[in-house]
Amino acid sequence: MSERINVPGRINVMVPWLGQEEADAAAEAIASGWVAQGPRVARFEQEFAAAMGARFGVATTSCTTALHLALTVAGIGPGDDVLIPSFSFIATTNAVRYVGANPVFADVDIVTGNVTGDSLAAALTDRTRAVIVVDQGGVPVDLDDIRRVTDPLRIIVVEDAACGAGSTYKGRPVGTGADIATWSFHPRKLLTTGEGGMITTDRETWAVRAKHLREHAMSVSAADRHASVLPPAEEYSEVGYNFRMTDLQAAVGLVQLTRLPAIVARRREIAARYRDTIDGICGLRAVSDPAYGTSNFQSFWVEVESDYPTDRDGLLTALAEADISARRGIMAAHRQAPYVDLTPSAGLPVTERLTDSTLILPVFHTLSEADQDRVIAVLRQPVRTLVSAIEEGART
Ligand SMILES: *Cc1c(COP(=O)(O)O)cnc(C)c1O
Repeated sequence: MSERINVPGRINVMVPWLGQEEADAAAEAIASGWVAQGPRVARFEQEFAAAMGARFGVATTSCTTALHLALTVAGIGPGDDVLIPSFSFIATTNAVRYVGANPVFADVDIVTGNVTGDSLAAALTDRTRAVIVVDQGGVPVDLDDIRRVTDPLRIIVVEDAACGAGSTYKGRPVGTGADIATWSFHPRKLLTTGEGGMITTDRETWAVRAKHLREHAMSVSAADRHASVLPPAEEYSEVGYNFRMTDLQAAVGLVQLTRLPAIVARRREIAARYRDTIDGICGLRAVSDPAYGTSNFQSFWVEVESDYPTDRDGLLTALAEADISARRGIMAAHRQAPYVDLTPSAGLPVTERLTDSTLILPVFHTLSEADQDRVIAVLRQPVRTLVSAIEEGART
């Protein structure tokens, strides 16, 4: 049995770009004898933070645990409301619950799929202490517009940039405008370490506390303990966690980081090619760069509108029949069992429309033009079928 997960002929929605360099880096970490959190994690934190324009980086096991820690060091807890988009992966909402705070859903913009200053203002409560804004699918959120609403109220801005590595906002990396940002290295994102995450922030006290908490709130780090023959007795000042990344992962992450510019450039090329086609197809609307920034197109989504010959699920089926694995669009957390009770009385009409009518097309670094043409042919096929049906009708 093959261990390769790629089925011949099938086009996946995402394939990570990993090479011999990553394998060599992981092998070096193994040969060094230090595989848990150590010098490679420290280097990855520095280099990733520098690349994202932040002063400090704190590596974690995932973006989910990074969000949990970010809210904790920001002092968010029971009794606090945290405004978030329902239109996001479930982890954004779960993190609010982990710290005992209340998620409050805000709707998103139909063009970007992100919350806006106005949509947050509409959801504000007098207990709102923080917001988590998301660069959904890699599309940068309009941070200045968000801060116009949050700054006068001293609301903390957490940016869930899980999808955002390589996206820019007003010429700078996304995340730089927030108080604290979180990142993911899951293979579905641009850079991967298998699983993994990172916090970036300019606030030293938050970074120091996050490092402390991710390592059981231990007074002596494992690395320091290892360095001395007779280490001091460690103390545990509060309830901490084990959210440590391993040096094996960081070794891979350091190589991945050097690939980021090439990955972003290639994804943007693929996205531009899809757009050229989709702009000419009536009833399909594709995600694009907003005026104030650039997307890395982590998720290239397409809305299937009512004047397209089939609906979203019909197009997904057509793609699946051509052995192309597209995906339903971004989920809506307020439709999931733990959160249905939190649906706001005014509803979340844009979130529901996008969730119901969008799908995500394959985009990855090694996607060939021929394979992209196979996807494009399916997008055109219902139109062609419709045209030939009309011609057929005209003849008979
Ligand atoms: C993927 C994702 C997460 C979770 O990241 P993990 O590293 O898998 O925990 C959180 N938020 C958003 C917006 C995501 O897309």
